[in-house]
Amino acid sequence: MRSNLAGPRLLLRRLREVMAEPITAQERLDKIVVLIAANVVAEVCSVYILRADGVLELYATEGLKREAVHNASLRVGQGLVGLIAAEARPLNLPNASAHPGFAYLPETGEEAYNSFLGVPILRAGRTLGVLVVQNQSHRTYLEDEVEALQTTAMVIAEMVAAGELEAIAQKATGLDLSRPISAKGAGLSEGVGLGHVVLHEPRVVVTNLIAEDSDREKARLEAAINRLRLSIDDLLASGEIAATGEHREVLEAYRMFAYDRGWIRKIEEAIKNGLTAEAAVEKVQSDTRARMLRQTDPYLRERLHDLDDLAHRLIRELMGREHGPGVSELPQDAIIVGRNMGAAELLDYGRDRIRALVLEEGGPTGHVTIVARALGIPTVGQVDEIVSLADGGDAIIVDGDTGEVHLRPAADLENAYAEKVRFRARRQAQYRRLRTKPSVTKDGVEFTLQMNAGLLVDLPHLEESGAAGVGLFRTELQFMVASSFPRMREQLSQYTQILDAAGERPVTFRSLDIGGDKVLPYLRAIQEENPAMGWRALRLGLDRPGLLRTQIRALLHAAAGRDLKLMFPMVAEVREFLQAKALVDKEIKHLRRHGHAIPENIRLGLMIEVPSLLFQLEELMEHVDFVSVGSNDLFQFFCAVDRGNTRVADRFDPLSVGFLRALKSIVDAANKMHVPVTLCGELAGRPLEAMALVGLGFRDLSMAPAALGPVKAMLRTLDAGRLSARLLPRLELGHDDRNIRDVLKRFAEETDVAL
Ligand code: PEP
Ligand code: MG
Repeated sequence: MRSNLAGPRLLLRRLREVMAEPITAQERLDKIVVLIAANVVAEVCSVYILRADGVLELYATEGLKREAVHNASLRVGQGLVGLIAAEARPLNLPNASAHPGFAYLPETGEEAYNSFLGVPILRAGRTLGVLVVQNQSHRTYLEDEVEALQTTAMVIAEMVAAGELEAIAQKATGLDLSRPISAKGAGLSEGVGLGHVVLHEPRVVVTNLIAEDSDREKARLEAAINRLRLSIDDLLASGEIAATGEHREVLEAYRMFAYDRGWIRKIEEAIKNGLTAEAAVEKVQSDTRARMLRQTDPYLRERLHDLDDLAHRLIRELMGREHGPGVSELPQDAIIVGRNMGAAELLDYGRDRIRALVLEEGGPTGHVTIVARALGIPTVGQVDEIVSLADGGDAIIVDGDTGEVHLRPAADLENAYAEKVRFRARRQAQYRRLRTKPSVTKDGVEFTLQMNAGLLVDLPHLEESGAAGVGLFRTELQFMVASSFPRMREQLSQYTQILDAAGERPVTFRSLDIGGDKVLPYLRAIQEENPAMGWRALRLGLDRPGLLRTQIRALLHAAAGRDLKLMFPMVAEVREFLQAKALVDKEIKHLRRHGHAIPENIRLGLMIEVPSLLFQLEELMEHVDFVSVGSNDLFQFFCAVDRGNTRVADRFDPLSVGFLRALKSIVDAANKMHVPVTLCGELAGRPLEAMALVGLGFRDLSMAPAALGPVKAMLRTLDAGRLSARLLPRLELGHDDRNIRDVLKRFAEETDVAL
């Protein structure tokens, strides 16, 4: 059948006139449906708008019964209109009633119409409603008619977004755009934040949709695409990114799309139909977002994300907007919402104004997560579609403990959370008061509580938490947040600053623990089947001694004239420690030979985090100055349970007899050989678990700074002697191993331990 369309440009011109008229939103919608019906030569044209309660309400119609307006409605997923909303894609049917999803609304009188074309009203990938045309005859609507409808849908989407339709929405329900949304992701960094959304990459809102001069728009598009291509080519050509790896892959994908004729043709087509260049890109982008929502293949989804990002860059290019909000523009209670970001980008925001962070991606061991935790920023990751759901300035609550995110929360929820925040603040104040109090139990057993750190920004926590020192300094963090390999000079400067900031308090450095899940963006990632058990940490250091020696040299320099405590991660055999020690000795000789000062006192130790060491404890203790238990890895390898895999991570309990016996054997061996022993895994920072460690005989623990208060509060209310007397017999043969946790809880209750 021939298209009845009176030219898309003419339609757009008419739409523009309707948009400019000083009439009410309802009158405008009424005019739009008449216009479309005439343009497509359809007997019916209707607009359904999605309400906050998930119902699609008929907002305007030409051809259906007038009294059905604001009375007829469908749920998302119900009928053809509901299906379009649910799937965010058009439906074009010559015989609508034959479709399995068909459900007609008697109040509208639509039974007379056979053919049906509906398109979603989309904005930034979100469905805001559905636009439909119907005819009595059995006809298939043509491609340019679908296009015309989609373009009109964009105009209506802008009316919704601009709040025009709120005026005619039912007060009790409101529109979908301002609907409160609760989403569940993964809690990555604890704490609760209340504030307002700041989009990490703000969507540029295209408001100028309809072009005056299409040739000019086409020229603008061409120029912007050329600039975009050049900037990507420049990035790829610059030496700043590694020859392979994630960054390059993304950029290569950008380049591929930036030169993709199909993509550009689609944009040009939209311009030809009368849209401005930016509106044309937005239209194609909206389509991409909708496809993204339906895509389940992670690889394709990722590529669609890339295409989406690229379209975004192109819009910014066209509208001349800079990337990201300037720090000075941040509100005092900013909650950053983004798809993902690098650790350095988070640092750029500065700690002071950020209340929380929400990411669509982000995993528990990601770099940005590590930095967020170090900065004490409550963080939730893996929140699907949050970027398109949220708008800059929306109120939002982020619960890093439970992984919940509440966008545009209702007042009672906000009050409940505000109370939670106040409660936490009161507790924090209590803990702060404990800061200067000694870490000693009720029965007089003294403890050393230290904190874990990894960046210079962590160091002020020493003072705030009252930690006795840094029990674990993860040196790899500096490497992870850098964009290229830190050279000797940079390492030296970092370690010097750390030691200066720590002052009198000791710092235990750990040599680079890279590999496994700790990847460096600029270092070629090696494909390994089991990276956690692969070429990582000290293994890599011993095979590439240049790397390790540079670090050792930087540490020796930085600590010249002071104390240096250094330990090695992932040691599986005593021999490996001795090799590492030999490297240190060599470096010391080298420095001496060249007349450099060296540290006054050097103590070398290792982390016990590979179970093989449990059977070499005595030999090991002969060679080391101290040991530190890395319970995160030790437990992962002990129980063969991947620490990052949420399916299995909680399958076994570290407070089970087997693991507690293993820990006890370490304390016993260390005590017997008079070797200082500490534990620096996450176990040390959880009060009940820390209590178990006390019962086993640990007297030195290192944990996240925020955990110091709760652990100290526990210690100061604990009778360590009584606890050991209760706990240790349970580790003997013949006891049920499942209820150690309960034994400890009961003990805490009976003896009033503050947990
Ligand atoms: C550990 O494994 O317990 C540890 C402290 O090291 P990381 O968490 O850095 O692997
Ligand atoms: Mg470890």
